[in-house]
Amino acid sequence: MGNKNCQQFQSAVAEYLVRHRSVLDVISKLQESTAHVNRAIVNSVTACGCLKIDASKQLIPNDATFLEMASYMQTHLKGSLCPTCSENIQEEIGDTLFYLAGICALLELDLDKIICKENERLETLGIYNLT
Ligand SMILES: [Zn+2]
Repeated sequence: MGNKNCQQFQSAVAEYLVRHRSVLDVISKLQESTAHVNRAIVNSVTACGCLKIDASKQLIPNDATFLEMASYMQTHLKGSLCPTCSENIQEEIGDTLFYLAGICALLELDLDKIICKENERLETLGIYNLT
């Protein structure tokens, strides 16, 4: 059973892929859009300041179990996104999804099936097999 939103989204993207119909354009636009996601995150730190990055070496005790590791691993993020930065990042992620769906449409791949298959893979693997 597929996700209707995902399938409709891919169909809509396929219809809107007029200016960038070539797979080369879509591939390069996907790469560009991921850079814009990164840039929007960086802007939330360096231009807005709602987020801070405080990074250092991850310190994990040698005897920590795999399940305990999650409690030691840091995101290196401090603060939280303000509404403006949150909106900007969401827009950039939306553009990335657009071009990802575009690649799927051009290659006749079903994005929804890919998401379902990946989700099933994660559920099947379980946390112990993600090392
Ligand atoms: Zn902000």
